[in-house]
Amino acid sequence: MAEVLVLVDAVDGKVKKPTLELLTAARQLGEPGAVVIGAPGTADAVSDQLAEFGAAKVYVAESDEIAAYPVAPKAEALAAVVEQASPAAVLLASSGENKEIAARLALKIGGGLLYDAVGLDADGNVTQQIFGAAIEVTAKSSNGTPVITLRPNSFAPEPSTGAAEKVEVSVTLSDAAKAAKITDSVVEEKGSRPQLSDASVVVSGGRGIGKADNFSIIEKLADSLGAAVGASRAVVDAGWVPHTMQVGQTGVTVSPQLYVAVGISGAIQHRAGMQTSKTIVAINKDAEAPIFELADFGVVGDLFEVAPQLTDEITKRKG
Ligand code: FAD
Repeated sequence: MAEVLVLVDAVDGKVKKPTLELLTAARQLGEPGAVVIGAPGTADAVSDQLAEFGAAKVYVAESDEIAAYPVAPKAEALAAVVEQASPAAVLLASSGENKEIAARLALKIGGGLLYDAVGLDADGNVTQQIFGAAIEVTAKSSNGTPVITLRPNSFAPEPSTGAAEKVEVSVTLSDAAKAAKITDSVVEEKGSRPQLSDASVVVSGGRGIGKADNFSIIEKLADSLGAAVGASRAVVDAGWVPHTMQVGQTGVTVSPQLYVAVGISGAIQHRAGMQTSKTIVAINKDAEAPIFELADFGVVGDLFEVAPQLTDEITKRKG
């Protein structure tokens, strides 16, 4: 059976959820081979988790040197694994860093590059959304080994037993890969909420909340659901929340299992960043608001009445 390589993203010895989704997606095309690139010890910390999600092999490219440089060494290491394994495809999660690695890899191996897929079938066809997600296209690489980045939450991660056989990969970095060195790194301070880009539940607030202080209504609803918090651009432009929370064409693209839009009209630029969400719930006092064209469930009502009641009910039912 053909092998399908998956680049592993892990933090503090824990495999990130998008990687587990990729291992699940990879099984449609062939046998998943996980690729771990990083400082010595990275692979040992994660190989059990990779085995639980079906990795037949774990390719290990570890060195202090690889960890000391951004992006370029990872593309070189991945290219070395491709040469060794001759896979049917290489899958990466659609993050900024991974898209750069994917582009460099595709160039090195002469493979077709497909970005930001939201679906992948057993024939290697990917689904992508273009022009602000107004159009859905199906695309397939016609050249070499396809390099595909998949958006988080495009597949539900499903466990499957894999042997996770360890395969050491030795990589000699080129001078070009060492052109930029990491001189310092700071661990981002994170709250207890999930990260917006790969959360499975997102609650977003729009201009309907009226002022910055009212945003706590959105946060309370999000916390009752264990959700990440997003916002429309109107809220960001008003300075009520930081730009990192903006969902949409010029913000973060999300594709959660559940997206709750509170006091958001549903402008095309906002929709571009959330319309692939599996279930969309809208709360808006205007029955004509465009968000209802997209919503699976809608409440026409005042968010100041509806959202707190919803939060209370969810909290009550959680017991
Ligand atoms: P509004 O459109 O003002 O809607 C507020 C909604 O709240 C209304 O539907 C109203 O009925 C409802 N409401 C008011 N009070 C209540 C209440 N008490 N209870 C319930 N409902 C209430 N926007 C983004 O979001 N993300 C982007 O990335 C983005 N990129 C853009 C890029 C470009 C180039 C441009 C031109 C625009 C972009 N925009 C983006 C802006 C976008 O066009 C809209 O202006 C913006 O999304 C509107 O935000 P909103 O829905 O919060 O506000």
